Amino acid sequence: MLTVNAYAATSATEPLAPTTIERRDLDPHDVLIDIKFSGICHSDIHTARSEWGPTTYPIVVGHEIAGVVREVGSAVTKFAVGDRVGVGCMVDSCRECDNCRKGLEQYCRNGNVQTYGGVGRDGKPTQGGYAQAIVVTEDFVLRIPDGIELDAATPLLCAGITTYSPLRHWKAGPGTRVAVVGMGGLGHMAVKLAHAMGAEVTVLSQSLKKQEDGLRLGADQYHATSDAETFTKLAGSFDLIINTVSAKIDLDAYLRLLAVDGTLVNVGAPEDPLSVHAFSLIPARRSFAGSMIGGIAETQEMLDFCAEHGLGAEIEVIPAEKINEAYERVLASDVRYRFVIDASTF
Ligand SMILES: [Zn+2]
Ligand SMILES: [Zn+2]
Repeated sequence: MLTVNAYAATSATEPLAPTTIERRDLDPHDVLIDIKFSGICHSDIHTARSEWGPTTYPIVVGHEIAGVVREVGSAVTKFAVGDRVGVGCMVDSCRECDNCRKGLEQYCRNGNVQTYGGVGRDGKPTQGGYAQAIVVTEDFVLRIPDGIELDAATPLLCAGITTYSPLRHWKAGPGTRVAVVGMGGLGHMAVKLAHAMGAEVTVLSQSLKKQEDGLRLGADQYHATSDAETFTKLAGSFDLIINTVSAKIDLDAYLRLLAVDGTLVNVGAPEDPLSVHAFSLIPARRSFAGSMIGGIAETQEMLDFCAEHGLGAEIEVIPAEKINEAYERVLASDVRYRFVIDASTF
């Protein structure tokens, strides 16, 4: 066992605090990673605060992890000591079901093993990335290409793949009109990725506060959703809408922005159920869909795509002692656009 420094939540209401956790001894296929950076995702906050159902405490959250391989198990073939690597939202799956065989480990019928809050093959609860090191089986470790800085690569492991996968699945590219709802951690990556894929990109944000950033990151248009005219002006004008907002929105209003055969994909996860009027879908053969991260092969494809196009996340690097403050700032949308923790400060 390896004992490493970490930051943990001990209850739904206490601030996160320093602690130590144990990482398992290496199995033949395991990789020990020295974590260099760990991203702060909104899911971390939901989980730390038991907002998505009861959390088992103490918990170390964090599922945007970038680091360097320190040690490999005896049978590891994909990685060597010194490699730049990443870990995202899952660290294992059954690998045998039809979905796993198709490379859709995120939709494993037996439930993928979440990076934190899951149960590992050793029967122990998994602990995430707010730590100095992590042990992960090689098939769930990603290679971070040299073309991306490790800190800017970190948010790609969740925010990047969460938006890349639906953009690819619904074929964003030259000639398609993509709208991104919300200009936060997920939204800013959706803008960069959709633009790099060649799509025409529009941001739909509450206000025009981040308009300059949106246009700089690749958006062709930027509209405020607080302005009712936005919804009349843009009616029927998108092929794909990626909704990154995890608060409840008026879905019917957004669905009416879709052209015939258009799809609205939800990647944000509000706590309350969403409602949709059937007549927002029927008159234009529209679809309302969801999407969750991406498979391992697709996550690698996304990292390679980002390296090729010179893409990384817009980040603010913080020391571990600022995590609780950063949580409040995430909730206030006061970050451009992702916090990344310097793991040397755990
Ligand atoms: Zn996440
Ligand atoms: Zn499976």
